[in-house]
Amino acid sequence: MIAGAGPAGSAAAALLAGAGWRVVVVDRATFPRDKACSEYMSPEAVRLLDRLGVVPDLEAAGAVALEGTTVVGARGSRLTGLFQEASPAPFRPAGLSLPRRILDARLVEAARDAGAEVREATKVEALLHDQGAIAGVMVRGPDGRHAPIRARLTIGADGIGSIVARRLGRRRRALPRRVAFVAHLRGVSGMGRTAEMHVGTDGYVGLNRIGTDLYNVALVVPQAQAAGARGDPGGFFFRRLETFPGVQGRIQRSHLAREVLVTGPFASRASRVTSAGALLIGDAADFFDPFTGQGIYSALRGAELATEVAAGALEDPGIPSASALAHYRVLRRRAFAGKWAVERLIAYGMWMPSLFDRAVSRLGARPTMAHALIGVTGDFVPARRVLNPRFLTRMML
Ligand SMILES: Cc1cc2nc3c(=O)[nH]c(=O)nc-3n(C[C@H](O)[C@H](O)[C@H](O)COP(=O)(O)OP(=O)(O)OC[C@H]3O[C@@H](n4cnc5c(N)ncnc54)[C@H](O)[C@@H]3O)c2cc1C
Repeated sequence: MIAGAGPAGSAAAALLAGAGWRVVVVDRATFPRDKACSEYMSPEAVRLLDRLGVVPDLEAAGAVALEGTTVVGARGSRLTGLFQEASPAPFRPAGLSLPRRILDARLVEAARDAGAEVREATKVEALLHDQGAIAGVMVRGPDGRHAPIRARLTIGADGIGSIVARRLGRRRRALPRRVAFVAHLRGVSGMGRTAEMHVGTDGYVGLNRIGTDLYNVALVVPQAQAAGARGDPGGFFFRRLETFPGVQGRIQRSHLAREVLVTGPFASRASRVTSAGALLIGDAADFFDPFTGQGIYSALRGAELATEVAAGALEDPGIPSASALAHYRVLRRRAFAGKWAVERLIAYGMWMPSLFDRAVSRLGARPTMAHALIGVTGDFVPARRVLNPRFLTRMML
């Protein structure tokens, strides 16, 4: 059984059901539903969606081609990294942007099409145990009744506040503690074919086109500051946007197309991602910071890795032991260690605005390096291309 039908849970459900396993996936939400997200996907995330067969439908639903990212520093420095200029070449020249409302509902449909049973408006409230192993979950269904779902394998894909992760072990909270405010707006002026990240002295703003005259605007600030939004998140959001010089005057409150969603604080990871009978994928396993826009990719790739290990472990009868699932941890480290390091390099770099500005301005003057960095955050260029003394020295000097 799978707890959570976001990108991680739906992808895992589609892959396991497609391989012939009986899968039940539950989500407390009813789809389509909104999700606070910048709705940016790299070409590599699109490659994973392509494996699930959903890309033509997403394009038909109005997904926008995304060519890369422009980063603007607090003192006006600027770099533009383009996916198709990076080496090695990406799966396709552009990523995609579209509302999560459309993406996630299409992934749920892919899980159903593959044969998974998807139960919506069904909340996981507790885990079931059998001789020390996880043996399924207790859910509360749409009628308010509690019912057990017994399973040989329980996959926790229930996002950043994951109940499965909390029952498996301690959640490790990490710095930076940030909170995000995300809205959809019309009429954002001056947008090109890249997403924009505007970094300030204590927070950042992401702008991303997600449809014809529809834009995602995300403000990320330290948790301490977000307290000022209590009672009027919209007012706080629009006031703070105006403090970013590159955003000033481009966004009108009257053009709001979807209310401001608030989420956070983030930066937490599970102390254990596997245990007898259970494993964690997507944000339930770890989520650091949205700046690099890699969460959906990680959710989909984590689902691939987990289902690879799960399918092997389920060949033997009974609940898989902790050691039968342990290889998942190794695969995760191999797949994500570079990403974890780059995410932290960027997030901690933002704490030193003058240093950050210097790096952005150096990379802006050296487009090949800027393309390489965007390729790394786009998950198709190996992280070692930027995590090496030569790149880091040239970025600063
Ligand atoms: C501000 C912000 C901007 C972001 N921007 C980007 C971006 O541009 N690009 C990108 O790739 N990533 C981005 N991310 C990250 C991305 O949103 C996540 O990494 C991604 O959604 C993870 O997918 P998931 O399936 O693990 O979790 P989720 O998408 O959170 O799905 C979890 C599902 O579990 C369900 N659930 C939760 N608890 C229960 C329960 N107890 N019982 C049943 N169901 C439950 C929820 O309803 C939800 O549907 C951003 C994140 C934030 C916060």
